[in-house]
Amino acid sequence: MTTPITVTYGDGIGPEIMKATLAVLKAAGADIAVEEIDVGEKVYLSGIATGIPDSAWDSLNKTKVFLKAPITTPVGEGYKSLNVTMRKRLGLFANVRPCVSYTPYVATKHPQLDVVVVRENEEDLYAGIEYQQSQDEVESIKLVTAQGCERIIRYAFGYARANGRQRVTCFHKANIMKQTDGLFLRLFREIAPEYPDIKADEMIIDIGTARLAASPEKFDVIVTLNLYGDIISDVAAELTGSVGLGASSNIGPNIAMFEAIHGSAPDIAGKDMANPSGLLLSSVMMLVHIGQPDVASAIHNAWLRTIEDGVHTGDLYKPELSTQKVGTQGFAQAVIARLGQKPQKFKPVSYRAGIRENIANITLKPRAAKTITLVGADIYVGSQGLSPAALAEKINHTVGGALKLQHISSRGVPVWPKGGDGVLLVDRFRCRFISEPSQAISYNDILAIQKNLSSLGLDIAKLETLRLMDGKPAYQG
Ligand code: NAD
Repeated sequence: MTTPITVTYGDGIGPEIMKATLAVLKAAGADIAVEEIDVGEKVYLSGIATGIPDSAWDSLNKTKVFLKAPITTPVGEGYKSLNVTMRKRLGLFANVRPCVSYTPYVATKHPQLDVVVVRENEEDLYAGIEYQQSQDEVESIKLVTAQGCERIIRYAFGYARANGRQRVTCFHKANIMKQTDGLFLRLFREIAPEYPDIKADEMIIDIGTARLAASPEKFDVIVTLNLYGDIISDVAAELTGSVGLGASSNIGPNIAMFEAIHGSAPDIAGKDMANPSGLLLSSVMMLVHIGQPDVASAIHNAWLRTIEDGVHTGDLYKPELSTQKVGTQGFAQAVIARLGQKPQKFKPVSYRAGIRENIANITLKPRAAKTITLVGADIYVGSQGLSPAALAEKINHTVGGALKLQHISSRGVPVWPKGGDGVLLVDRFRCRFISEPSQAISYNDILAIQKNLSSLGLDIAKLETLRLMDGKPAYQG
């Protein structure tokens, strides 16, 4: 059955590389019906802050498959990132970026590189929840959920299994962020044994990134949180030799989006110079996703053959490695001419029927309800120019009942009753009120403190409750 797909030609080099990609798809016999939508620069400049008109959502919700060329986000305030909007609104929780070296036909320092980065795409610091708490202090919330972690971890293992991969490595910073990254790592350790055929290991993100940059051949599939994934997938892509080669999929339970990793490259737009490979290889991922693995294999093999034959666009062209320098459309024609051929030097690709990238039916494990005990609150107040000790004295006059002022901190560092020497003080302090020894309090106890602080004229910027979960502190710092 013909599969309808939504396509946007995008901005900059977008129209050229999309034209080239669709020409190859057509010549290879992809059974698709293209529905075109307009998103991006034109739409932004028409006054739609998201860059996406309502009609585009209708098409996406209908076809559920999106082949997207890069778009230009106009510089200036008021324009929202189209990619972030799409990921959130379409629930595209998994970003998958395979990064492969094509040595010796593409110059790279890492001939054995073949790594897939699976990045959580919706949560973490990219949830975009930010506040200015005082004149001096701003904050961004790192939001991570058990469900979000479990889903991406299961997706990574499922992807590894479906694609004949051997190992999944978890990149994290759980040694510092014990709640957020700690949850991610704990769930990775919990879930990994359910996939005994796939090896599982873990690395702290800093050394992991260093190792990835130095010896990428040691990695197979990497699963990680959003911000780390954004950074390391660019590192891995850059190591392959050209940004023009990178493909990606963004997978949600209902909808999937496929796009090159590069941007709209305005510097070479309209010159028939762009390498269409990133988008073409993304369309190969799309064909596997929509159940046309034979067409996907045919295109991928023809593409490998083209590369090893030395037919290269300008970004890859090297007189000692290449035989022919071609433009965007010339490259597409070279791939079309090789449809039906297998690569001679590279290993041919053979996608299997039934491998769907969209493991839509990931079942999340039910979680046992934990016992929650309220034991205190961190209340963030404006300092009003007071020293921590003066603030503590002012507050202590008014505090009574179950809660005591335990300590005051500045930027997460204790400054009262101990500490403070050499600590940078700004115009907001965190005051920790806690029952000692830890015993259950009621929210009214916290409300009473807030009322008192307010009557002292203090600016209350924020409050975090302090709880025990099954008897263990569910807070850090
Ligand atoms: P870019 O990826 O567009 O370009 C970086 C460099 O790589 C340029 O020198 C460019 O010529 C080159 N390049 C990129 N793709 C190429 C290709 N296919 N073939 C040959 N060379 C290629 O990044 P940028 O210049 O930082 O961003 C340009 C615009 O793209 C910005 O408006 C940015 O917001 C947008 N952007 C869009 C997406 C997207 O739609 N997914 C992603 C990244 C950037």
